[in-house]
Amino acid sequence: MKYLDEYRDAATARRYAEAIAKITTRPWTIMEVCGGQTHAIVRFGLDTLLPPQITLLHGPGCPVCVTPLEVLDQAVAIASRPEVIFCSFGDMLRVPGSERDLFRVKSDGGDVRIVYSPIDALKIAKENPKKEVVFLAVGFETTAPANAMAVHRAKEEGITNFSVLVSHVLVPPAMEAILGSRHNRVQGFLAAGHVCTIMGYTEYEPIARHYKVPIVVTGFEPLDILQGIYMCVLQLEEGRAEVENQYARSVRREGNVPARNLLTEVFTVIPRKWRGIGEIPASGFGLAPAYAAFDAARKFQVAGHTAPENPECISGLILQGIKKPQECSAFGTRCTPMNPLGATMVSAEGACAAYYKYRRHEGAVPGEAPPEAGRAVS
Ligand code: SF4
Repeated sequence: MKYLDEYRDAATARRYAEAIAKITTRPWTIMEVCGGQTHAIVRFGLDTLLPPQITLLHGPGCPVCVTPLEVLDQAVAIASRPEVIFCSFGDMLRVPGSERDLFRVKSDGGDVRIVYSPIDALKIAKENPKKEVVFLAVGFETTAPANAMAVHRAKEEGITNFSVLVSHVLVPPAMEAILGSRHNRVQGFLAAGHVCTIMGYTEYEPIARHYKVPIVVTGFEPLDILQGIYMCVLQLEEGRAEVENQYARSVRREGNVPARNLLTEVFTVIPRKWRGIGEIPASGFGLAPAYAAFDAARKFQVAGHTAPENPECISGLILQGIKKPQECSAFGTRCTPMNPLGATMVSAEGACAAYYKYRRHEGAVPGEAPPEAGRAVS
């Protein structure tokens, strides 16, 4: 398949791994920010191709994982109301809140619908003027423009029975929180290519300078990731700390300017709580005052609720690169994708779920080839 097969070529992957080994003279620890990258690394066994001096840590870039429990509880509370049609992407429906998930609300008679775009939810609002239609707007900078567009259109067209429950998070403040921690182990980052497609990468330049870490904007296919690691290791070996763009087929330095302008119009930057990590200053989007009427948390007065996490779960440490999934005593036993106890098991993009799916819990730890290593890189 065009734009897929050529980025999964096994022989080229091996050559990249050899090239990385050739330039590596000492141990380096690199974090891939995005859950999609984590999934590809574990699925294709890319970490097992690397020289033993390279450690990959899995970052906080899984949007489902970092959506706080209280937002899920708010979603369940709103979706349970008889006047509400609650719309969401499918992957949020099975994420458990404190007591129930949205699938349970649906099976109990709630009108919960899977949509493929927030614009679809807006259409449902127009078709059902006597109902309140709410869209669950979660995720990183990548999904924010479509949500901003839906709210902007609702305002323009005077649609007052549409609102969004917003829990958008931003990548650069999370990277700074990780780098500023006294437990930090990260020496270089693979930044998330799709986020930078929207936002560009100028925001990362002061971070690279201040913390003296190379940041390589990287794609999601196996060869993208191996090339990103090569570029990052090369910078580390040469003592450079710059922002470089591996994902040039999609990312421009300035990003998508119309999308960024729309984000600035509809949203304002606020502190956000990240599931498993806690509150990070200026790390999220909330609706700007001019769009407050479209804020579902305000409309249905569900803000302010808090929910405790399972005390056994160490997903916060995993999301910050301090621990790996196998170091959790519940991993693969009390916590599985069918019965997730914490943030990084609730989504296929979470590090715990990826390790579970690709059988790292059965002994195929990094450094040993898991069953699929190399095979899927066709
Ligand atoms: S295995 Fe489950 S309980 Fe353990 S850190 Fe991962 S999500 Fe949390």
